[in-house]
Amino acid sequence: MGAGCAKEAPASTAPTPEPKREGGDSTATSTPRGNAPTESALAASPTPPAAKPSLTPAAAPGPRSLTIAHFNDVYLIEPGQREPVGGAARLATKVKELKSQGENPLVLFSGDAYNPSLMSTMTMGAQMVPVLNEIGVHCSCMGNHDFDYGLPNLLKLNAQCKFPWLMANVLDRASGKPYADAAPTWTTEWNGIKVGVVGLVEEEWLETLGAVNTAEMQYQDFVTVGRKLAAELKADGAELLIALTHMREPNDRKLAAEVPEFHLILGGHDHHYVSACVEPHNNLLVKSGTDFRDLSVVRVELPGGGGAPKLTPERIPIVSAVPEDPATKAIVDEYMKLMGEKMDEVVVETLEPLDGRFQTVRTKESNLGNFVCDVWRKAAGADIAILNGGSLRSDAVHPAGQLKARDWVAILPMIDETVVLECTGAQVVEALENGVSQWPKLEGRFPQVSGVKFKFDPSKPAGARVVPGSVYITDFDDTVDDEKTPIQMDKKYRVAVKEYLAKGKDGFDVFMDCKVLVDAEAGVALPTALKNHFVTLGVLSKWDQHVTLSPLAQFWKQRSKTHHSLDPNGSAHGDSERKRVHNHGVAVHNPSGGGYCIQPVVEGRIVNIRGEDAEFWEKEEKEAEERVGQSMRRAQEDAQEQQEPQQPTASVPKAAPQEDEEKAEPLQRAEEAPEDEVLELEGPGAGYDEVEGPAASGAAARDDDDDDVL
Ligand SMILES: [Zn+2]
Repeated sequence: MGAGCAKEAPASTAPTPEPKREGGDSTATSTPRGNAPTESALAASPTPPAAKPSLTPAAAPGPRSLTIAHFNDVYLIEPGQREPVGGAARLATKVKELKSQGENPLVLFSGDAYNPSLMSTMTMGAQMVPVLNEIGVHCSCMGNHDFDYGLPNLLKLNAQCKFPWLMANVLDRASGKPYADAAPTWTTEWNGIKVGVVGLVEEEWLETLGAVNTAEMQYQDFVTVGRKLAAELKADGAELLIALTHMREPNDRKLAAEVPEFHLILGGHDHHYVSACVEPHNNLLVKSGTDFRDLSVVRVELPGGGGAPKLTPERIPIVSAVPEDPATKAIVDEYMKLMGEKMDEVVVETLEPLDGRFQTVRTKESNLGNFVCDVWRKAAGADIAILNGGSLRSDAVHPAGQLKARDWVAILPMIDETVVLECTGAQVVEALENGVSQWPKLEGRFPQVSGVKFKFDPSKPAGARVVPGSVYITDFDDTVDDEKTPIQMDKKYRVAVKEYLAKGKDGFDVFMDCKVLVDAEAGVALPTALKNHFVTLGVLSKWDQHVTLSPLAQFWKQRSKTHHSLDPNGSAHGDSERKRVHNHGVAVHNPSGGGYCIQPVVEGRIVNIRGEDAEFWEKEEKEAEERVGQSMRRAQEDAQEQQEPQQPTASVPKAAPQEDEEKAEPLQRAEEAPEDEVLELEGPGAGYDEVEGPAASGAAARDDDDDDVL
């Protein structure tokens, strides 16, 4: 049945009668299927084609109505600068106003709350729990950014919410149940109307989740699952069917067109406002912008006798004239104060001073730039990362030692969204050309990079400065860090850039021609990648011997272990001391404390061949080539050995036993660690503060909610 979808809204309709309760436990019950309310009113079929009205004259209800309030994708709890300024406290006022006017809205949220924001890089999203609870959310759908700090963090926060989180079409491969303890559906009786809600997400963003193990997820088509669950809820007596989604608008429209059972689709993920009747079934699609800037109110009227509901949407911009709700404002103020305190927390220790001076990051390779790009590239799953040096804002050398949250906020004050592009080698070179085109001006476009190295000649004209044949792809994942392969002009690479560059800013027009593989909404924000890395280092320090972490954490750990014996050997040159740190200094054992810290160095990724260091890097390069040659010879010998018969007692004698003797014990690799005492602790956010011992799991971390992230 199609919904009666009224295109634009009159300001208000008659207030509905006060319901029995305010959506407490007894009116709002989470239903893991087949657990729908059983009142006799359910017996009235929602789709009687007027064939047998005479059979149920007494049961036929009169006209009924209810009000729905909806919002989605909230990152800042504080108001913004421009109208509509939004902010949680103002939106709460509007929700509570509906209540005081007797409409008692059913409050639905379409996901994305725990990240990204500056505050979340310190709280991992904890501030959103009291805010959403205070606004009075009754039911929500999972969003991609809710997974940003890993599964244990999400489970912990969700458990503190006074409402269920839905996601019907992503299953845990192992259990076959909805992933992340989500509920597939939620039913309630609101103002005497049976309401069924299904939570649905799209496949696109699932594939890009950086902090959870997507191999554990089994995605199912949202149309197929939506159709099946809608039919079940309808059979159970639901009179109003709602899809609460986190997907792009075209997918929401597809859902509306292909599953006519849904009267209403309430979506998130997009940040623009949508209110539309979708053909051919005339069901209503509403998406409510972002950051508490808009509240959607949908008024539903059910005619007597079981006809289709009529839906009337209204958009309420949350402008500065809306007063702030005192209770919500108190929560916001508390977290703003807390954020100030959090600024002084130590987040990581560095063994090297980090050079963030403008004169460095805008004219040459910087160890700070290397570190940021390495962590970012790995989190984004890209081959190459190109960061415009202007992104690094601190304009200071951060001395070796402990770094506080305050330092990182100074370095990266913006929540920079990441886009992963598909670029050819030629396009990468073109981008690098743009990056060095303004040298020696302190232009923000000068690149800091990961996964690529190159030389440039500033005596050449802009656009022809990258030295031909000098651009190499450096595979970070290789055992030998010196390994590099020439960039191939027609090969396609995954390149992580900020959204700003993807839009062609700072002269990076070339990126506008590249295919977008991961868009800004789905990509991992730069400060989030760093936060997760710092948390990972903390987890590694604490559980070095006991825990297997997310693939990303495992990767850092492996990097650190593999190269443990290759301690940096200093190599002085000129007035600056240079060091080789074989794992790029992203995760190194702290010689003083035994934990993990960082030690990024300048390593010749960007070489100015007219610069004073050119000679030094040439020598370094030669030595590196020799090391690679040696290591390849060793690998060949290993391969030959493996081709020999495997049985130690075989009659065929080994070709050259004395050579085998000589062969050094290979470095101990992380993958050789015994698997039996390994515990899966997913996500860099793995709640390391909360985990009490090796037996702890995500569920245990979730139970322990006393020492909040505050
Ligand atoms: Zn989203």
